[in-house]
Amino acid sequence: MQGLMMDYPLTIPAILHRADTIYGHKPIITRLPDKSIHRYTYSAMALRSRKLSAALQKLGILKGDRVATLSWNHYQHLETYFAVPSIGAVLHTLNLRLSPDDLSYIITHAEDKVIIVDQVLLPLYDKFKSKIKIDHLIVIPQTGQPIPEGALDYEKLISSADEKMFVPFNGDEHTAAAMCYTSGTTGNPKGVLYSHRSVVLHSMASSFADGLGLKESDTMLPVVPMFHVNAWGLPFTCTLLGTAQVLPGPYLDAVSLLDLLEKENVTITAGVPTIWLGILNELDTHPGKYKLSSLRMMVVGGAAAPRSMIVGFEERHGLNVLHAWGMTETSPVGSISFLAKELQNQPKETQYNYRAKQGLPACFVEVRGRNENGLIRWDGETMGELEVRGPWVARSYYNSTDMDDRFTEDGWFKTGDIVTIEANGYIEIKDRSKDVIKSGGEWISSVSLEGAIMGHPAVAEAAVFAIPDAKWQERPMACVVLKPGKSATHDEIIRFLEPQYTKIQLPDKIEFVTEIPKTSVGKFKKSALRELYKHMGS
Ligand code: ADP
Repeated sequence: MQGLMMDYPLTIPAILHRADTIYGHKPIITRLPDKSIHRYTYSAMALRSRKLSAALQKLGILKGDRVATLSWNHYQHLETYFAVPSIGAVLHTLNLRLSPDDLSYIITHAEDKVIIVDQVLLPLYDKFKSKIKIDHLIVIPQTGQPIPEGALDYEKLISSADEKMFVPFNGDEHTAAAMCYTSGTTGNPKGVLYSHRSVVLHSMASSFADGLGLKESDTMLPVVPMFHVNAWGLPFTCTLLGTAQVLPGPYLDAVSLLDLLEKENVTITAGVPTIWLGILNELDTHPGKYKLSSLRMMVVGGAAAPRSMIVGFEERHGLNVLHAWGMTETSPVGSISFLAKELQNQPKETQYNYRAKQGLPACFVEVRGRNENGLIRWDGETMGELEVRGPWVARSYYNSTDMDDRFTEDGWFKTGDIVTIEANGYIEIKDRSKDVIKSGGEWISSVSLEGAIMGHPAVAEAAVFAIPDAKWQERPMACVVLKPGKSATHDEIIRFLEPQYTKIQLPDKIEFVTEIPKTSVGKFKKSALRELYKHMGS
């Protein structure tokens, strides 16, 4: 017998409709490239988005066509997030920190028809334009300079469009809505293709109280770029809930962000640990300078949040960090480290230990770990590769045959992350499988060592990676950036680590550097470090 409930499709236009009809007055605030602040409302955003939908249809964009964006976080980018899927086309956000060669590869592979580009990013576009073939270039005017010949002006397209001419797509929730390529640390970048349904379910689940806990009354500043995993889905989640949005434009340095967090009374913000390490350093250097009493939560994910950072924010500045794990392939929210009831009356130190883990799987995300002996026990000790499945987890890559080994025969996704899982379900990422240091018979977690070194009071950042070793196969080495005006020696850091690690787990070499190379999304670039320091091995 079938249930008798309505078959209401879960689509992105339904998210926009709700924001327009119920939260039309709520604000969307952007810091523009000239640093001035642009403010408008959800109803203005919804109207302009419908006009853009009409304009794209007039340009001949059909259901299934890919429309790319090369943009920072700002209100026009938000408009594309709704305008493109609302006509059944696919929003393809391009990561502006990738190399011109990677970008031209991705655009060609996705067969993008249109690229919408920030005027301030035209110098980047110019570096790969000769290698791609698209139907239309649309430029978002930002500088007052004329836009290039042959390109269309985004603002003129919107002002001349008639929103009543826009024909919505047929509303099938399984239709592709958005696409994002992984950053290609192993082989070519791979396309992940989100559906309307996956975006809606991800928005709902990630806003649960035991998810990211977003509310209508919040003001959200996503530091995480809208060109990387849809800014963790936050533009969709905030619009669904009517949450005020503060979009930082191209200014992602600690001082600019703190200024915006303070002035706009932001209550919740989200980004990768390297951003928060910079912010923590600025707060430590100027105690009391920034008034952040509105800020109730900072969501940190994309790489391991060091325990010392979580402790530092809370104990020195009264700021609450929520640690979450995810990947491009998981939309991205996969697990969230909130404190379950039985942990809430544990000593603070135990609570910090749990908050530094990657947490409990999100609702409907199933997890398991596997090593060479099969599925691992949930004992918090046995390590294995994390496999996941769920309604917002990729089941395959776009137009790719060479990556099928990332999916198991029974339909789970192999994350490439090495984890332990506790009996109570808490996941801890020990490493990425390619970063774990295989020393003798033992696996040494680079993530754990990094977190511990970053707990040293003189250390700003630390990355740990493998160098070759004739006897042990691989040994750990660390690159360390010291805080301004602070000093530490190799021996001091080793002594600091000794109580927590066995001798064999301690780094053989520590190099003090001024900067650690980062990937296009701000994570430590361990592949570059391995290459750079391989001569230090034996
Ligand atoms: P890329 O694979 O291109 O780096 P993703 O953003 O999809 O891009 O990266 C996902 C990976 O980032 C995960 O597989 C994991 O290794 C790492 N990661 C994400 N969040 C966390 C976290 N909270 N702790 C540790 N690692 C994390």
